[in-house]
Amino acid sequence: MKNCTSCNVEVVTNYTSFKCPKCGHGKIVRCDRCKTTIKKYKCPECKFIGP
Ligand SMILES: [Zn+2]
Ligand SMILES: [Zn+2]
Repeated sequence: MKNCTSCNVEVVTNYTSFKCPKCGHGKIVRCDRCKTTIKKYKCPECKFIGP
């Protein structure tokens, strides 16, 4: 089970996940809605906030 890093909604297939561009460790999960609205996300590892 995955949750969007930005809005915390549960995601199944409608999401993208990638590693934090800053530290390369934190896993960012982003639902389609947050992706299209360019919502901010926060890395759980290094607290990097990115678009
Ligand atoms: Zn979201
Ligand atoms: Zn990070």
